[in-house]
Amino acid sequence: MVLDLKSVFANEGKEISIDTSLDMSDTDFSGGFPLKTPVSVKGSVFNRAGVVEIKLQMNYDFCASCDRCGTETVKSYGVDLSKMLATSIEAEESDTIITVPDMKLDVDELVFTEVFLSLPTKHLCKETCKGFCFNCGKNLNEGDCDCNKSDGIDPRLAKLAELIDN
Ligand SMILES: [Zn+2]
Ligand SMILES: [Zn+2]
Repeated sequence: MVLDLKSVFANEGKEISIDTSLDMSDTDFSGGFPLKTPVSVKGSVFNRAGVVEIKLQMNYDFCASCDRCGTETVKSYGVDLSKMLATSIEAEESDTIITVPDMKLDVDELVFTEVFLSLPTKHLCKETCKGFCFNCGKNLNEGDCDCNKSDGIDPRLAKLAELIDN
């Protein structure tokens, strides 16, 4: 969605509300496609005392397998964006200012970038996920495996200790 902001820049007090969604289901992240449902985007562009600002709230569901145990897990995230808009090309584009020389703003592009940068690099089914046993591969959330009962010593390490002793 590209917003034409001429009327906002021209009129103090003018506001355009934004209530849309963005399909990012084909966005590849860490070898998967975690955004299976559209990103919800709500907010507005407004002119307050001659200063044009955009405020957006984006919400999305992140669906991927747990980093530790591999269980498919969905978690909801929200990102807020608040920036000023400037028409002058001299105004330096920064973290707080977006330049729109032609008074047109590509909302989709803005949302895509913000959401993509916010995607979680750590994804667990629960904070306390125990993951798999490195030895036998059992999902330890479903109960302990037999390996753990042997004094918690990895048999490979035990073997190594044996070799060092000799
Ligand atoms: Zn897990
Ligand atoms: Zn085990």
